[in-house]
Amino acid sequence: MFKKSSKLYSIFNNKCPRCHTGNFMENDTKFGLIKSMNMHENCSNCSLKYMIEPSFFYGAMYVTYGITIAISVATFIIAYGVFGLSYLYSTISIAFAIIAFIPNTIRLSRILWIHLFISYNPTKTKP
Ligand SMILES: [Zn+2]
Repeated sequence: MFKKSSKLYSIFNNKCPRCHTGNFMENDTKFGLIKSMNMHENCSNCSLKYMIEPSFFYGAMYVTYGITIAISVATFIIAYGVFGLSYLYSTISIAFAIIAFIPNTIRLSRILWIHLFISYNPTKTKP
């Protein structure tokens, strides 16, 4: 769907942001709260250390916030606009949607966050 050199390829295929070959998360599954959020420490192909500095992924909270707002708006439009639910039920459905997407949101925000700092470089390989 996306070329290997594009960031979207790496983001949607759970790949290292530098070489786009090694896996970023330990599991490809997006279901299960703990299992889906375990990360490798280094890339298996280019040895990129994913935790660039201590507490690096705390910054991913900003990305999580944006994704959560997008999920909330989309859920509200669907619940209120399409299904005609009341404000109360629309709000409850937003809460359920946010909780249901927690693993996906955290995975996506972490990989988006590291992509802000690491560029594609296929020439870097394991020393
Ligand atoms: Zn890599």
